[in-house]
Amino acid sequence: MQGSTESLIKRFRGGDRVALSRIITMVENEHPDSTMILDSLYSLTGKALRIGVTGPPGAGKSTLVEQLAIRMRESSLRVGIVAVDPTSPFSGGALLGDRIRMSRIFLDEGVFIRSMASRGSSGGIAWKTMDVCEVLDAFGLDRIIIETVGVGQGELEVADTVHCTIVVLVPESGDGVQAMKAGLMEIGDIFVINKSDRESAEAAKRALESALELKQVGDGWKPPVVSTVALEGKGVGELFDKTEEHLALLVSSGNIDAKRRECVRSKIVNVLKTSILESEWKRGQLARLIEEETARVICGASTPYRSAACLLAGLREPRVQ
Ligand code: GDP
Repeated sequence: MQGSTESLIKRFRGGDRVALSRIITMVENEHPDSTMILDSLYSLTGKALRIGVTGPPGAGKSTLVEQLAIRMRESSLRVGIVAVDPTSPFSGGALLGDRIRMSRIFLDEGVFIRSMASRGSSGGIAWKTMDVCEVLDAFGLDRIIIETVGVGQGELEVADTVHCTIVVLVPESGDGVQAMKAGLMEIGDIFVINKSDRESAEAAKRALESALELKQVGDGWKPPVVSTVALEGKGVGELFDKTEEHLALLVSSGNIDAKRRECVRSKIVNVLKTSILESEWKRGQLARLIEEETARVICGASTPYRSAACLLAGLREPRVQ
């Protein structure tokens, strides 16, 4: 590790927000020192609770996230916001008006906002997000809100890594069919009908509640539906209470430990996969071998499964340099 990285970590440990920002950038860009950084900060992690906020574009996620963060600050919680959604105002897509609207949290020292590029990560966006969350956790934040658009596979994977998933819908989502299609029904711990200032809101809430009746509950938690008007902060107090209730249940039931174990296990597998693939790729061998195997499968001399097994066997053999 370079000396400059060491001093950066030192400043980070001292609560320097600029150092935090720089470290996140290094982690995000897969800087050569990033693994060392994550490793040295690991012992500081394990306290922050991660909350995913997902839903279709325009549902009001960013507006709601801001309100939720304000509510959290009222409870003296330090908050991190990670926007994986490229359309989120937090990601820089904001009109000037949005920035002004959000100035309450942008200027708050107890809130740290970060956007993530949703593409171009070797380990997948979910893992990159997880790494960034780990850095925020090590910095001493209590809650980390991760905003994603609930449409892609990567975004659904983020749900596996958080402690509570809030699915934001609007009255027009109607019977929740769209949500079901997108797989949102399975991942939601709490559902929100935002824009409840609209006429059809009450009917939408009831329809969603009856659709949720069918949802299996394994851990004694029945996903509630909360009506909000994010623009006016209405219903946000209830949303915050439900979120904290869910997190408290996760802790008291011990499921949080199971989740941590699962995340750690997947992380080890992920780091292994990435580093094996990367090191082989760098040597230029694997890419060439995959091409050769592809040609063998195409001409009928192999199958994808046999080829993969063959490549794997080759990787295990000690290599003559
Ligand atoms: P996101 O794409 O899901 O993050 O949605 P935004 O938070 O950017 O909100 C999209 C638009 O909906 C913005 O113009 C908001 O001002 C508006 N909006 C957000 N919440 C509400 C609400 O409760 N009621 C109404 N009528 N509009 C809202």
